[in-house]
Amino acid sequence: MAEVETKNKKQHITEQPITLSNWYQHVNWLSTTLILIVPILACIAVPFTSLKFPTAVWAIVYYFWTGLGITAGYHRLWSHRSYEAGLLLRVFLACVGGGSVQGSIRFWSAKHRAHHRWTDTVKDPYSVRKGLVYSHLMWMVLKQNPKEKGRTDISDLNHDPVVVWQHKNYLYVILTFGILFPMVVAGLGWGDWKGGLLYAGILRFFFVQQATFCVNSLAHWLGDQPFDDRNSPRDHVITALVTLGEGYHNFHHEFPSDYRNAIDWWQYDPTKWSIWVWKQLGLASNLKQFRANEIEKGRVQQLQKKVDQKRARLDWGTPLERLPVVSWDDFVADAQSGKALIAIAGVIHDVTDFIKEHPGGKALISSGIGKDATALFNGGVYNHSNAAHNLLSSMRVGVIRGGGEVEIWRNRGIKSDV
Ligand SMILES: [Zn+2]
Ligand SMILES: [Zn+2]
Repeated sequence: MAEVETKNKKQHITEQPITLSNWYQHVNWLSTTLILIVPILACIAVPFTSLKFPTAVWAIVYYFWTGLGITAGYHRLWSHRSYEAGLLLRVFLACVGGGSVQGSIRFWSAKHRAHHRWTDTVKDPYSVRKGLVYSHLMWMVLKQNPKEKGRTDISDLNHDPVVVWQHKNYLYVILTFGILFPMVVAGLGWGDWKGGLLYAGILRFFFVQQATFCVNSLAHWLGDQPFDDRNSPRDHVITALVTLGEGYHNFHHEFPSDYRNAIDWWQYDPTKWSIWVWKQLGLASNLKQFRANEIEKGRVQQLQKKVDQKRARLDWGTPLERLPVVSWDDFVADAQSGKALIAIAGVIHDVTDFIKEHPGGKALISSGIGKDATALFNGGVYNHSNAAHNLLSSMRVGVIRGGGEVEIWRNRGIKSDV
């Protein structure tokens, strides 16, 4: 008994099943407070707090700023290094990214690099294979097993003073940019302190959180896989609309260091547009793009894979190498004994069941029985369609030794027993 207890003590809580008596130990209370408890309390306050028009506009504007802090900052800049940003832009992105209340850049990027490195495995911190809701937010609500942690290199982030500063002062950053700043703007701007706190502060960051979480859940669950279907990432316009353009996730997992998620101009990717504008303003540089040739190669290979899978499901007739090899004389003898066999291009076809369905009539096809009808089939009488060639191949039953009648006659003069 004592031994069992010692064993249990060594076990991490995540290795024990969730029960009524231990469920609270499974919960990551800090994350749960920030992503669920505070937003739920805010929802309860909504009926008692009127939404003023300027506050609504400000909440939407700040939603986009803080959303971009995550998509253009946390994700495309720090997790993937898909472009370079000057100090001013990095400080802005670190502040507004912090204002979306999703952990520090260091925490977020380490998890995200693990997600790319170990996609769909137990080491993927938000693997969709553990369930859609788990990948969306339960991975933060519940503690994670440290033994399943996918380790990644974040030494580059430790050398960025903005990242280090933001990580060290993270609680101040979320208090300031998650709550105080949006509240103070509304309060000093048009006297709406309470609305600023509730709508531009808490509910705004709740919506940004939910939108970002969709990249981990919805983008691995809904849509097409034009570049690779071995793992779960998918492309869908709905996910793109929700996530400021992060919805072309199949492309993103294939080409993660590309600063774009959407490669066509008409696709919705405001994060890409923002980075491009920052470049024009001299705030960002070295925007990375994969060569169009490499992207098209990936697309064509996936198309080919799909075509091959479809092709494999169709009946193309017995492969030639698996057909029996028959001498010309045996072929003729079989045909004379009543089998409706026709030789075309060195291959014997059994047309017994097809004679009455032959679009060119019964007489024509019957005239080829026991003969080499290659010329007849390929234009001597009628140049058959591609569909006819396909149909014919499904009727093949043997291959003629030497290729055909003429070959046999020629050989006969040399060697009589062929
Ligand atoms: Zn992903
Ligand atoms: Zn990514």
